[in-house]
Amino acid sequence: MLDVVDIGDRSLDAYRGVAPEAQLEELVRVSQRLRGARILHLNATSYGGGVSEILRSCVPLLRDLGLEAEWKIIRGDDAFFQITKRLHNGLQGAPGDLSETEKALYLGNAQLNAPHLAEGYDFVIVHDPQPAAIAGLARHRGARWIWRCHIDTSHPNPAIWDFLTPYLAAYDAAVFTLENFIPPRFPIRRIAILPPAIDPLSPKNLALPQELARHILEWIGVRLDQPLVTQVSRFDKWKDPLGVVAAYRLVRQRLPQLQLALVSSMALDDPEAWDIYEKVRAETAGDPLIHVFTNLVGVGNVEVNAFQSLSDVVIQKSLREGFGLVVSEALWKGTPVVAGRVGGIPMQMPPGTGGILVDSVEECAESLLHLLRHPQAARLLGESGRERVRHHFLMPRLLLDELLLLERLSG
Ligand code: UDP
Repeated sequence: MLDVVDIGDRSLDAYRGVAPEAQLEELVRVSQRLRGARILHLNATSYGGGVSEILRSCVPLLRDLGLEAEWKIIRGDDAFFQITKRLHNGLQGAPGDLSETEKALYLGNAQLNAPHLAEGYDFVIVHDPQPAAIAGLARHRGARWIWRCHIDTSHPNPAIWDFLTPYLAAYDAAVFTLENFIPPRFPIRRIAILPPAIDPLSPKNLALPQELARHILEWIGVRLDQPLVTQVSRFDKWKDPLGVVAAYRLVRQRLPQLQLALVSSMALDDPEAWDIYEKVRAETAGDPLIHVFTNLVGVGNVEVNAFQSLSDVVIQKSLREGFGLVVSEALWKGTPVVAGRVGGIPMQMPPGTGGILVDSVEECAESLLHLLRHPQAARLLGESGRERVRHHFLMPRLLLDELLLLERLSG
């Protein structure tokens, strides 16, 4: 049942001159102490969303550092992913409960997947709620089990939280992005706080030549002689795509040439996305200045890179957010960001750095207008954001933090 995800080779040396040297050196030292350790990363999808982005970079680098790292995904059908999407929403506070049948289906999926987990791992890192019940069912308990929660679980819906908690009790440690994401009555004693990171060398983040980036966007119908703002996000209510359209329409009253691009990847484990996609299409139909793109029409990593590089401002108007990798991705390209003051976003954009934090559609519109009218100040903000990302949110820092945690757990 478990699928192995194909990944390429990568070398830590390629990060020299990009990530801080001291981090790279310490990473090499720590990995030597853990040499040969067997690590499994387990999640629900190999593309779409932040977790797969991180694993695609992190697993090959762990191998380059001399660890035996693997990435596997659980299998599940539509009904299972409908349920886990509601679990995800409930963990972020949305109301509602699962029926007894749905609870049984969730557990049934773990029962199907768990026997396929090979033995002999030293560490099994399970990401998010979809595969979480596996830990308690896996036959072999020799490994240290870590639950890596990427979402904002600070105020979970109590019904959903009570359902999930017994499954989490089987873990040795948990990792959250922010201290205040730790939910009430949390059953795992050892907790680490590790913000995620982006890979500066992935096709999404490496420096694209200007001319190529321009060609890519013009190819898909974006006009580069008119200003452009972009949000790159799954179609998810917490990412507030309709709020983005509303803010954009307010700004357009003052800047009639302004274009908006909404770029979204449709993840396999995200059935709700289609409903939201339809709503966004209905809301924006017939407007030639609003571009809606998905991975299904070929807008993938390189196009996202071009959007994040060439937009005048990137928007991330989240209402709830785990971390928001897209914010670091845009800042890494020196592009200023207007973003919701939620979850891990303020950590990426402390005051005066990277862009402007907002709490409403109106504030979002005002901030966009301000940055679009003051390109010099916007550029300086973007540059300060890039330096913040270099020191805190590039992959080597995350790997270092993770390996230090594994070392503590094995001691
Ligand atoms: N992403 C993408 N194409 C899209 C939309 C999103 O490649 O059309 C990527 C985005 O660049 C980022 C990840 O998906 O790397 C989203 O991570 P984030 O932490 O921002 O949000 P999540 O989807 O995990 O809630």
